[in-house]
Amino acid sequence: MAKKKTLFECQSCGFQSPRWMGKCTSCNQWESMIELSSQQIKFLKNTSNTQKVSTAIKATPITQIKEDNISRISSGSRELDLVLGGGIVAGSLTLIGGSPGVGKSTLLLKIAGNLARDNKKVLYVSGGKNQQVR
Ligand SMILES: [Zn+2]
Repeated sequence: MAKKKTLFECQSCGFQSPRWMGKCTSCNQWESMIELSSQQIKFLKNTSNTQKVSTAIKATPITQIKEDNISRISSGSRELDLVLGGGIVAGSLTLIGGSPGVGKSTLLLKIAGNLARDNKKVLYVSGGKNQQVR
């Protein structure tokens, strides 16, 4: 009967070891080693898989890369649309930063109002900490 081969992989850096370790010897992360399934080990050992991947990836000259036609939604604010490169990209995430009291919430509520008036669905979620008025 063949002995079951085991392989453990660090979830932090990808280091592999035939035995489990509490601390990865490569990146020193604790409790990061997980046992790979026999299917995962089989895939890793099948060299034809890596060959297929390496031949499928080809470098493309930058002049031959087609520009994606990204649809943008106007925020209703000309200035914000300009900053966002022409408007809000559907499915995108934009991080708005600034000092306390600079007007981030005011701007976002105004934009949310503009979008809602334009029959767009708006969900406003704020994780901001309430500040005491001095
Ligand atoms: Zn590691």
